[in-house]
Amino acid sequence: MSDLENLNITNSLLKNNGLPKYSEFKVEEVEPAIEYLTSKLESDFELLEKRMEAENESYKLYNVTVEQVEKIQYPLDFAWGVIRHLHAVKNNNDLREVYSKIQPVIIKSSNRISQSKILYNSLLRLKKMGILSNVQKRIIDSSIHGMSLNGIGLEGDDKHKFNELVVELSKQSTKFSNNVLDSTKEFSLYIEDSSGMNNLPESALELFSMNAKDKYPNSTPDKGPWKVTLDAPSFVPFLQYHPSSDLRKQVYIAYISRASSGDKNNIPVIKQILSLKKEKANMLGYKSFAELSLSKKMASNVKEVEDLLQMINKKARNHALKDHNDLKEFAKKETGNDNLELWDMSFWSTKMKEVELNFKEEELKKYFPLDSVLEGLFRIANSLFSIEIKEVDIVKENIDVWDKEVKFFRIYENDVHISSFFLDPFARPDEKRGGAWMDSVINKNKFLDHKPVAYLVCNGTPPTIDNEGNKKPSLLSFRNVETLFHEFGHGLQHMLTRIDESGAAGINNIEWDAVELPSQFMENWCYHKPTVMSFAKDFETGEAMPEVLFNKITRQRTYRNGGGTLRQIYFAMTDMYLYDKLKDDEDPIDVMRKMADKYLIRKIDDNDRFICSFSHIFAGGYSAGYYSYKWAEVMSADAFGAFEEIDMNNEKELKSVGMRFRETILAKGGGTHPSIVFKEFRGRDPSPEALLRHNGIN
Ligand code: ZN
Repeated sequence: MSDLENLNITNSLLKNNGLPKYSEFKVEEVEPAIEYLTSKLESDFELLEKRMEAENESYKLYNVTVEQVEKIQYPLDFAWGVIRHLHAVKNNNDLREVYSKIQPVIIKSSNRISQSKILYNSLLRLKKMGILSNVQKRIIDSSIHGMSLNGIGLEGDDKHKFNELVVELSKQSTKFSNNVLDSTKEFSLYIEDSSGMNNLPESALELFSMNAKDKYPNSTPDKGPWKVTLDAPSFVPFLQYHPSSDLRKQVYIAYISRASSGDKNNIPVIKQILSLKKEKANMLGYKSFAELSLSKKMASNVKEVEDLLQMINKKARNHALKDHNDLKEFAKKETGNDNLELWDMSFWSTKMKEVELNFKEEELKKYFPLDSVLEGLFRIANSLFSIEIKEVDIVKENIDVWDKEVKFFRIYENDVHISSFFLDPFARPDEKRGGAWMDSVINKNKFLDHKPVAYLVCNGTPPTIDNEGNKKPSLLSFRNVETLFHEFGHGLQHMLTRIDESGAAGINNIEWDAVELPSQFMENWCYHKPTVMSFAKDFETGEAMPEVLFNKITRQRTYRNGGGTLRQIYFAMTDMYLYDKLKDDEDPIDVMRKMADKYLIRKIDDNDRFICSFSHIFAGGYSAGYYSYKWAEVMSADAFGAFEEIDMNNEKELKSVGMRFRETILAKGGGTHPSIVFKEFRGRDPSPEALLRHNGIN
């Protein structure tokens, strides 16, 4: 047997015929697999280039320039997808090391294709032939544009410089996110003094106690000791509920100054990223990186984005001012002083909300055990989109997973299996990234005969066993429920796509600022009474959630929302400024400060270096794109408005609008421009009216 055959049989990353073999994965496999796959891709691509040059018939030329290229890229995409996924959900030092080692190899390999003059010229030739479907046209156009952004037009020294710049950029952004991860991990606060701890919700105490077991194996949720960390599920409830302002200050300051000093300082990394991106944009003929970023988005220019943000800012500002003064008054009544510190805001606003709405977030949790939330979610998906979702018995069907808590589901339409997804529901702080996301495992592809498969990853509280051995299921906070609906919305677009050319299937090739439409749209169902009441049942007694609680949830949605909106505007405007207007002698931290002064009600703390952990715009894909959340929210709120206009208790009407949503927004993927797709669904252009109404700032 040759080495190559041997590699093929044993290396799990090369087994790409079906779902990935996560449990067989070994970190030692990464380098040989990537080495083999990149060189195979290189030689396959060379052969294809020869065929491209020889092809003159449009459908054959389309086949070699698009379909065949996807086909030869698939093995590497598949392996890299598995590695990226495990890097996010099963991170460890060895994997991290090899990950950063192969990153440049992957980039180099993808550059070989995206910088192929032969491919580029063939695409241009194909475009000229003009006998393509609209979907194919969009794929060709965005490939051409993508290649131009990858420096296809550059020659000689410029090209060399450009490639080095891209590799350096990816190194810097990996460094950025590692610094955030490490400095988040670095901080911990062990609390042995139980005074004040009984103010905290049970779920937080359980988490703190579980975390503290590294040092105090006998810790219990009631008696401690407890460990508070800077991960959101830990940090957020601590600031909301711990009565000691001093302790809150300690945690708050640590949080806002993450990755801003010592050997994990992201300030130099930020400066590097900003200047590299600007240079990249300039080399490609754009004035700024923001201009480059918007060239692939639905928004046409910076001004259009800023105008929308300013309009929302104007609407929200007075609400936020009033809310802030009310909060100050409220706190003053309790403390007797005027001085409301930044680390006290969350505590007092939680208290004020509890008094005004007369309920505690925590009361909701017992009504949201994960399994019934999933059932409810699948039910609404069924009544809107006519799909059946069934959980697969992982053991019986031998489905390979990366953690024992991972679930696997299949989606059926008229009893035909059309797609599937993994759900990784619980937090594993030691090895899994925070937050929640949807990613593609496999894209829909007619040519390769692939059905779509998705990853849905959340960070909910795992089931617990108390000292008496009683099991408690995973209970979701209301925010977790919304997050699950959100990620599922992304998943639906990936899995219910009708486009079978993978270049435009699902979320592929959708303008970035339109991608959050289906996800944010799905969140709206968390405020739809029949949907929520159908699954909100006490996990112990099975009793339905009282209606008055549901009404409080809906009141909470618009409750004192101005401040939160301003924060989002502040993030989005800071992002835009940094990538569009930053001058060479301007300091990013100063910019952040100026933006805070302009858009927030309160002055930020002197230690605030939040951009040092703003991974979205420095390590994710949101550079000059953070506004996308608001941009898409205008559309998602307005899309939900179409449901608000009908009698939602009428199943037939509900299904009719639901199916229209499915066949336009969920089905058409990146094959049609989002403004056209939106118009097909809504019959007109998007209007911000519904968003302002949903946010209570109209
Ligand atoms: Zn999202």
